[in-house]
Amino acid sequence: MKNKFFKRTKIVATIGPAVDSEEKIEKLIKAGVNIFRLNTSHETMEAHSKRFDLIRQVCDKLRVYCSIMIDLQGPKIRVGNLEQPINLEKNQEVIFSHQENPEKGIIPVDYKGIAQDVTKGSKILLDDGKIQAIVEKIEDNKVYAKITHGGLLKSRKGLNIPGSTNSLEAVTKKDIEYIKFAVDKKADYIALSFVRQKEDVLLAKKYINDYGADIPVISKMEKPQAIENLESIIKVSDCIMVARGDLGIELSAVEVPICQKRIIKECNKQKKPVIVATQMLESMIEEPIPTRAESSDVANAILDGADAVMLSGETSVGKYAIEAVETMAHIAKSAENSSFYKFDNDFESLDEAATITRQAIAFGADRMIKLVKAKAFLSFSHSGNSTKLMSRLRPSVPIIMVSDSETTCKKMALCWGVYPFLKNWDDVLNQNLLVNIDNFLINEIGLNYGDYVIITGSAPKLITSKTNFIRVHKIGT
Ligand code: PEP
Repeated sequence: MKNKFFKRTKIVATIGPAVDSEEKIEKLIKAGVNIFRLNTSHETMEAHSKRFDLIRQVCDKLRVYCSIMIDLQGPKIRVGNLEQPINLEKNQEVIFSHQENPEKGIIPVDYKGIAQDVTKGSKILLDDGKIQAIVEKIEDNKVYAKITHGGLLKSRKGLNIPGSTNSLEAVTKKDIEYIKFAVDKKADYIALSFVRQKEDVLLAKKYINDYGADIPVISKMEKPQAIENLESIIKVSDCIMVARGDLGIELSAVEVPICQKRIIKECNKQKKPVIVATQMLESMIEEPIPTRAESSDVANAILDGADAVMLSGETSVGKYAIEAVETMAHIAKSAENSSFYKFDNDFESLDEAATITRQAIAFGADRMIKLVKAKAFLSFSHSGNSTKLMSRLRPSVPIIMVSDSETTCKKMALCWGVYPFLKNWDDVLNQNLLVNIDNFLINEIGLNYGDYVIITGSAPKLITSKTNFIRVHKIGT
């Protein structure tokens, strides 16, 4: 597994029936997956539980650590059960309503607040925006609308009301059950869907804490309100996902690219890892090679500054799941190693809150890596703060982080270039510890005697105080 360090962009793969075996999970890991995503919008808790255990089992066998993300469905509104699909035509008048026993002619909706959250002129989008309607009036808890784009509407299809849905709860009953599941299973991340404001994130964190855990929360940016509250949401989140599927419905597909750049820029500024998701290699669900546009999309997300790129249907139900990961890893390596991979490493903008010492060390380390042609950067860190600064500088070598904190290791697993290791090496850096470090770099990282490594950490204790030293180290000396 040593060559995994060549790729520094992280890959998130959604797991589903296409990869339901030990052999496939192993192949996915070897192809470059760092984080597995279980999407709770689909399938049963029992199915997710089996997959979760299988992933952990394969990782143990391979002696690698991959993170597992539980993606909560969130307050997704759906059309209720229809006796049969309805063919909706342009200009047709329809009525939406939330009713226990729907009257004839009504399109049932599973959201109680639908009549309160729309006004005349609101847009209603059905089935990923393929069918569209415009609200004409609201009467007796019924929403009267006219179809503007027709199509065949089937039971349980998604329904979006862009910019509205104020009375929707941020964390649903089903989400709470899955939070408990995530805590019981010791999941590494919880992704929160349809975040609108920072309070939604804080509420999810409260539920996690109430179950006695501190699992990092990934806020999915897919609502116009989330874009309006971008800075404050990023501040309270551990990580961000540009969830382009619903974002493209709630805004429009046209607005997604600029929105993506804005979100990535703000995340880079706040040093929060950011994942770009959805339809990255969509055609690989059916075909063994991507379109040129898809390949460009993955590369451009990485050049924009994404820490991770995600696969959804490509790996969960696709015919070419392993090939999709291999393709993504190749595109990532080629983008990372290109001369276009340049970051604005302006000292002032790097981190206003970081101590001057940490900043000076990060800049110094980045420069030293180039000067001595180091093979890796080794960061000892309790909080991960100095490692994050280094990740933000996008150095040309892998960032090996050794921490005594499991939470820090989990949080950092999504950061670009960072490979965390949990070790209790919080001691004075003496000859004995250096021998241990050398053995680790040779046996677990795959480096060789004579290779240079830039080490940062704290003194006198290597991990627990603030980073205050840099050392140019030649393995074996
Ligand atoms: C998305 O909408 O792009 C997304 C990642 O979320 P989900 O797959 O849950 O719809």
